Amino acid sequence: MLELTTPVQYVKGIGPRLAEILATKGIATVGDLLNYLPFRYEDRLNPRGIAELRVGEMATVIGEVRNSGLFRTRRMPIFQLTVGQGRSRLKCLWFNATYLQDKFKPGQLIALYGKVEQDKSGELQIIQPQFEMLGEASADGADDKAAASLEVGRIVPIYESAGQGRVTARWFRRVIRTALDDLTPELAETIPAAVRERLALVSPREALWKVHWPEAGESFEDLQSSRTPAHIRLIFEELFFLELGLELKRRQQKAQTGMAFRLDDRVRQAIKKILPFHPTAAQKRVLKEIAGDMQKPYPMRRLLQGDVGSGKTIVSFQAAIIAIENGYQVALMAPTEILAQQHYFSARRILENAGYRIVLLTGSLEADRKREIRRHIAQGNAQLVIGTHALLEEKVEFAKPGLVIVDEQHRFGVLQRLKLMKKSGEGSDQQNPAEPDVLVMTATPIPRTLALTLYGDLEISVLDELPPGRTPIVTRRITDDRSAEVWDFVRKQVAKGHQVYVVYPVIAESEETELKAAIKMYRELSGKIFSDLKVGLLHGRLDADLKDQVMRMFQKGELQVLVATTVIEVGVDVPNATVMVIEHAERFGLAQLHQLRGRIGRGAAKSYCILMTGGKVTEEGERRLDAMVRTNDGFQIAELDLELRGPGEFFGTRQAGMPNFRVANLIRDRQLLELAKREAAAVMAGPNSEVTQVEISRALVALRTCWQRTYGLVEVG
Ligand code: ADP
Ligand code: MG
Repeated sequence: MLELTTPVQYVKGIGPRLAEILATKGIATVGDLLNYLPFRYEDRLNPRGIAELRVGEMATVIGEVRNSGLFRTRRMPIFQLTVGQGRSRLKCLWFNATYLQDKFKPGQLIALYGKVEQDKSGELQIIQPQFEMLGEASADGADDKAAASLEVGRIVPIYESAGQGRVTARWFRRVIRTALDDLTPELAETIPAAVRERLALVSPREALWKVHWPEAGESFEDLQSSRTPAHIRLIFEELFFLELGLELKRRQQKAQTGMAFRLDDRVRQAIKKILPFHPTAAQKRVLKEIAGDMQKPYPMRRLLQGDVGSGKTIVSFQAAIIAIENGYQVALMAPTEILAQQHYFSARRILENAGYRIVLLTGSLEADRKREIRRHIAQGNAQLVIGTHALLEEKVEFAKPGLVIVDEQHRFGVLQRLKLMKKSGEGSDQQNPAEPDVLVMTATPIPRTLALTLYGDLEISVLDELPPGRTPIVTRRITDDRSAEVWDFVRKQVAKGHQVYVVYPVIAESEETELKAAIKMYRELSGKIFSDLKVGLLHGRLDADLKDQVMRMFQKGELQVLVATTVIEVGVDVPNATVMVIEHAERFGLAQLHQLRGRIGRGAAKSYCILMTGGKVTEEGERRLDAMVRTNDGFQIAELDLELRGPGEFFGTRQAGMPNFRVANLIRDRQLLELAKREAAAVMAGPNSEVTQVEISRALVALRTCWQRTYGLVEVG
């Protein structure tokens, strides 16, 4: 009998070699295999008769191979197969498919799936259908008959093949069927009964069987959209355990020792003193939330979301003062040197007058200088330490770490976040094992579904108000054959004393050529079009000193036009810059466009974002550009971005800490996620009249044994 935890190689028909191939698909156990769900289903219950096919429909046809062969046209070889049912015939074509030669024998039974079309002479055909051999029509081998019965006369699950030799959709069908047949009848129920009843969840065994082998009466639409009771059970289960893990983690955090900072009148005065302007209502509210956490005796874990320009920096400085005035050190980490430096300059401007000691520690410093700064930090002289990842990587020890602020969090990912907390924790002295508070900030508005998972262990604050005196940014699209008009407009804005960004895409695969484009355009703009203006160039390949110098010149207004790649994307703050021209805007992701646009509209003057497109724009590109023109609201943009790109891509990389879901899909299953969160919280709040202690323990054991691996980041103590 197989258990869900049995290694997959013990399933009949899977040896060590196939197990290795499956491992590349993340399938290690029987449970993983059974959660490898069909991505669609085919209705071979009533395969269509060839005679009744209609042009334009997607259809499954089961027929007998009549003949096949390769013929060559001037342009390419074409493989043709004719399938028959009695007198009816259907033609199938594959282009450039010499490998299909000799694959089909007359008399073989074959299942085809594809779009029915008509050729010039009115004959029905399917071009490049998906197909599966069902064995020979007249075969008397028992094995083939059994196999054929999995393939025809029912709703058939279609799996993504592993892309390697034998591991085809058909192979999955057989192996998963075998695993189901041999699966232990006593599959433990791990979800508490009250939850199951409330949501009418079917048993795990029933769910696993029916999701692979639906009954004849099952709604085909529900199957294709993963909304059958079987699907819902499996998806809910996965999300429930994710949320249970996160809830557990939240509870563990609250049980940890942290620092209970004092917030007395003296500290309040200190905070007020540094403010260069009146805080917005949102800033006040958020500071209150942060200060509330900081006063509690357990460590703060808070995410501050605020659209670009909403004024997160000053709020983080205020939080820093609370820690510093309590005698602790603060680390502020930014994703790039430019940003770290910018924070350093603002910190000096705003905090140094008040007597706070601030240091900057970045990778590009000389070794001696770094050592000296590290000593300052270790001795507790430095009160606010600003840096890049260097703060993570170097041997930085804090004498008394109290607060860690991580800016533009989406660039870091959850794992690094944890690493940073540990590092500062280790730096603390033995008598004081307390964990520092952590505040992470992001300008990428995160759709609620993602926030619930990716940052599910964090409390969330939102800065949903821009500082006063901003006029909304006007966004326009224009094709680049009208660039002369754009440059005209730029010139007018510069004449009014404003500054302008001109951004070019750098795309990883063709970085060289794209970089050349930026450099070439820089030459063109600085040498010809704006030869009378001061034009600067900024890109990732410049060395740090030069980058700095350019950025500082732009900040001081010594450059009027800055030609740049996306290095200026995050956080750069030059309120006098009012125009953002983005060339080849169709090539940028939505989040990136929004980030870039966030560089302008930071002062009182009206700002303009000009999206220039060159060449053909894809349909998805159209939707991105439309969204940009339509709205300035980061949350709306984030929702659309998530929809267009899918959660895996949303943050650019897998590294960003997205859990690797087996069956759930954050976009499709938003509602189930909300349900799962609510139910998980209720369960963890037990035992009570609904949930028994035994049920809670059982769920926690399941979390540890079955789910922890899936979510790496969920540490279960
Ligand atoms: P972000 O949230 O994108 O990091 P910043 O903290 O860089 O935004 O703030 C954007 C700009 O707004 C900065 O120039 C900052 O000085 C200014 N600012 C922030 N808060 C206020 C406020 N309450 N009133 C006026 N200006 C503000
Ligand atoms: Mg910022």
